[in-house]
Amino acid sequence: MHCRNCNNKLKDIFLDLGKCPPSNSLIRNNSEKKKERAFELITYICKKCWLVQTKDVVNKKIFFNNHYPYFSSTSSSWVEHAEKYVNKICRKLKINKKKLVVEIASNDGYLLQFFKEKNIPCLGIEPSMNTSRLAKKKGIKSIDEFFSYSLAKKIKNKADLIIGNNVYAHVPNLNDFTKGIKTLLKKNGTITLEFPHLLNLIRFSQFDTIYHEHFSYFSLLTVKNIFKKYKLKVFHVEKLNTHGGSLRVYGCHANDVRSEKSSVKKIIEEEKQFGLNKINTLKKFELNVLKIKKQIEKFISSAKEQGKTVHAYGAAAKGSTILNYLKMTNKDIHYVYDAAKSKMNKMLPGSHIKILPPSEIKKRKPDYIIIFPWNIKSEIIKNFKFVKKWGGKFVTFIPKTKVQN
Ligand SMILES: [Zn+2]
Repeated sequence: MHCRNCNNKLKDIFLDLGKCPPSNSLIRNNSEKKKERAFELITYICKKCWLVQTKDVVNKKIFFNNHYPYFSSTSSSWVEHAEKYVNKICRKLKINKKKLVVEIASNDGYLLQFFKEKNIPCLGIEPSMNTSRLAKKKGIKSIDEFFSYSLAKKIKNKADLIIGNNVYAHVPNLNDFTKGIKTLLKKNGTITLEFPHLLNLIRFSQFDTIYHEHFSYFSLLTVKNIFKKYKLKVFHVEKLNTHGGSLRVYGCHANDVRSEKSSVKKIIEEEKQFGLNKINTLKKFELNVLKIKKQIEKFISSAKEQGKTVHAYGAAAKGSTILNYLKMTNKDIHYVYDAAKSKMNKMLPGSHIKILPPSEIKKRKPDYIIIFPWNIKSEIIKNFKFVKKWGGKFVTFIPKTKVQN
């Protein structure tokens, strides 16, 4: 296996999570249960460019098919984040009706809808037709394909703004994708990419953000390196609270008049100080994950001893990683609740825990509800504060097992 960015031969393991099925492939019935396949979930470190990446296992089509059930609009805090971004970027870059905005992985139009409201021309690129269909209903033009260099060449109008929120990490061919962005970007145009920051993944032991569909784990050091290769430059960067701590990188053509702001140097310094360019820092991560594993096992077994019911909230990738790594089943966590209609009555991959609508919480009155998407913890606790009535409590596992008050 070679590095997705610099082609260096990879030998150093970052984390080995064992065998896991694709995290978003929900199981619909017994025959699918029998056919289910699991694949090694191992991440490597590149000692040359410091990219952390999953081992190649399968064709990406297995991961992003038409059953792919993730609708960005399900999370109200994520939609709010998108709206704030649109208002800010329009002000900052003076985006008006004469400009073209392209979003890669535009999902159900959760973000582009706010450009549309302002009558700003926009185009979405989204291979999952289940989600892009909803964007089109909102009147947002969408191309149902994976973004690539060859697709970028076909798009006639160049983009004034290219947006990629949580897509860069999901790209199997990083070089082709970056070359595509370079090709699609108009002279003086701007790119903004958001991705979870590797620094936070390590600092807060967020190992559950590792799953097959998530190919790369970036530091700014690495992104700067990739951009440079394609004559792009990072001129500004912001820290975001989303997904446990992300970076929003602002890029432009290397020959753009905009010069690098101090924010770039500052975060690079922070990464170097933390040791993101040192193999020992990266290797220590696995020990922290083992500690968390032990805490979770202890929590589940003591809940069982006390005869407590343990359910969970959020039938998404984060939960799948934890459940599969710990080899948990519906004997450990009985049900998982989720608001997405597309997931109803299906089962989580691997653990085969059944997914129920949130309306079932009141009927089943669980003692504990594990929150898998800890990044939207406050939203969930607020929405379901009625669990207090029967003494129900919320629990999070990352960065350590914690019963929420
Ligand atoms: Zn590399």
